[in-house]
Amino acid sequence: MKPVILILPIGEVPSSVLEYLKTELPLFLVEVKVKIGERFNIPPSAFNPHRKQYNSSLIINHFSMLQTLKRYWRTLIVVSEDTYSNNLNFVFGEALFNGPLSLISLARLNQTFYGLEYDENLLLERALKEALHELGHTLGLRHCINRKCVMYFSNTIFDTDFKGPNFCLRCKHVIDSVIKKELETKQGKV
Ligand SMILES: [Zn+2]
Ligand SMILES: [Zn+2]
Repeated sequence: MKPVILILPIGEVPSSVLEYLKTELPLFLVEVKVKIGERFNIPPSAFNPHRKQYNSSLIINHFSMLQTLKRYWRTLIVVSEDTYSNNLNFVFGEALFNGPLSLISLARLNQTFYGLEYDENLLLERALKEALHELGHTLGLRHCINRKCVMYFSNTIFDTDFKGPNFCLRCKHVIDSVIKKELETKQGKV
């Protein structure tokens, strides 16, 4: 049985992004299947009125209570709103290290955020990179020093555009062995 990643759209999220992630993620995370879940509203309690941003950790905490998520190997929350976390002015995403949940925010992946013309292809490309990056953290990967590797930390959108969607050989090796090990443990239990 293939491990299933659940994509959880929160609030208004373009279906083009969800469908793109569904098709592309299995090309980079071999042996994985992707399902798009039902849409939920963004929890108002995660909104910080002073910053006019949502706290990504609070969104993750909120949805970690959802029982249905337990049926899935990993969950990727997708929001359109701008997010921040602890000491960071903004985040493109956040993940529970070695845990089941991750989140990406599309706000700053969109050219319109920077006063530029909407570019769907660029939005899709960036969303895929950030999704793979956060899922990488849930699989125990830390930031990579290779600027082309998807696990390189994006401090700005230029870092996201510079890096590729691929895991470097070292990171790929870790991911492959984690997936293999988790699958063996699962099968061992059956
Ligand atoms: Zn990261
Ligand atoms: Zn790497």
